[in-house]
Amino acid sequence: MLEPRFIGGLPKLFISSLALGALCLSTGCATNPATGRSQLSLYNEAQEIQIGQSTDPQIVQQYGLYDDPELAAYVERVGKDLATKSERPDLPWTFRVLNDPVINAFALPGGYIYVTRGILGHMGSEAELAAVLGHEIGHVTARHGVNRMSKAQLAGVGLGLGSILAPELARSVGGLAQQGMQLLFLKYSRDDERQADSLGFRYVDRTGYTPEAFVDMFSMLSASSRGSEGSRLPGYLLTHPEPEQRLLAARSRLTEMPPEALQRPWKRDPFMDRLDGLPYGADPDEGFFVESAFVHPGLGLRIELPDGWTGHNQKDAVVAVSPNNDALFQLSPVQERSVDDAARAFYGNQSISVRSSWSDEDPNIPLRATQVFSADSGKILGAAGFVEAGNGVLRLVAISKAERWSSNEDSLERTLRSVSKLDDPRYRNLKKMKISLVRVPKDMSIEEFDRRYPSSIDMEQLALLNQVEPGELLKAGARAKRVTGFDPGPQTGVKLPRNP
Ligand SMILES: [Zn+2]
Repeated sequence: MLEPRFIGGLPKLFISSLALGALCLSTGCATNPATGRSQLSLYNEAQEIQIGQSTDPQIVQQYGLYDDPELAAYVERVGKDLATKSERPDLPWTFRVLNDPVINAFALPGGYIYVTRGILGHMGSEAELAAVLGHEIGHVTARHGVNRMSKAQLAGVGLGLGSILAPELARSVGGLAQQGMQLLFLKYSRDDERQADSLGFRYVDRTGYTPEAFVDMFSMLSASSRGSEGSRLPGYLLTHPEPEQRLLAARSRLTEMPPEALQRPWKRDPFMDRLDGLPYGADPDEGFFVESAFVHPGLGLRIELPDGWTGHNQKDAVVAVSPNNDALFQLSPVQERSVDDAARAFYGNQSISVRSSWSDEDPNIPLRATQVFSADSGKILGAAGFVEAGNGVLRLVAISKAERWSSNEDSLERTLRSVSKLDDPRYRNLKKMKISLVRVPKDMSIEEFDRRYPSSIDMEQLALLNQVEPGELLKAGARAKRVTGFDPGPQTGVKLPRNP
């Protein structure tokens, strides 16, 4: 589980820095490369690097790295080329490709930059990659991350899902109180976005790519906001608001560039070469939602979730939240190797008092050690159970605000009792989706391309992937992307059907 390693120490640091900083001692000020003005810096460079260094392992654990050393080296080369032309070339710049299907890119203080395989799949050139990396480098050089963190600490911003839980219980049910990751849930301000774009333009310009790539990237991002993207953590648009505004701003910036700048290379081929075979979307073996159920072929489990709830399939847990946000169901693996040990560890937690067992534990369902409990001094009521699956043990916890327990109890209990072994042959040997490249033989619309080279995703997603509008022509000789394999659908924000 992720530990809030650094963030706990921040408020004190912040307050003392504020007191000192009010005097704007020379050591507490830094020049913002975007504005050229001096700004109060609450963290010195060593602290910034420390924040990035200590959070990086959490990011890697949460998302996983995409295992393709050549692609990783390529992204790093493009990123470092840009970073060495920034105002802070000596930061320990680190570029990583995360194994995540969501369209996303983000930065941590100190020079840690992440792109997902999801955003890479939606690009068509090295210049677009440079535009995205240049923007994130801009957030680092202008110190937006540390500034955001201080503001969040002051405002007491919490993580949405965990907010109905007391912090102690959130830690004990695991995975919900990843305070170190809160940074990823915070929006940049419009000013920050503008500054990062203007810095990104500067770095892309200095490195010799066409700045027009920004326009293509913002078009893709604003089109992606219309589609339904599956994600575990917030995608790019949630933390980088207003792609349409940024698109307009980028277009007007282009008019101020010398015309020869627009003749600079896109480097489409070296980029596209690396996309052939790239996984697309979620891995069906890691589970997905079917009607009102969650099925996990990898673990061989099926669970019926309550009608009308919203499901999220995260890397380390499946979470479903009631329509009123007053109850929550979570399925997650535990470290213990047996059901008995796992039950002892959970019910033995100081913040939990067991109220009753289910006396009628059903021998036909795999759930064991089911108990009703109260937590957080009685403010929360819940039920938990354990099941052996795969090579380990899973814990199912269903909780509700105490005053809402009577209205949630039935559906929570039904959900816990619905756990069953998945032996539906339809879910055996599902092929993962991947991108393959096709040389377009003649001018054809994206629809015609889809008829000739069928994809498993819908037209809206296919058009987005190829950066065209529905109806638009693909040119003869160009390389287009198609997607084959089983589509497990969105993984987050899935509204489960409400039966009449
Ligand atoms: Zn941004």
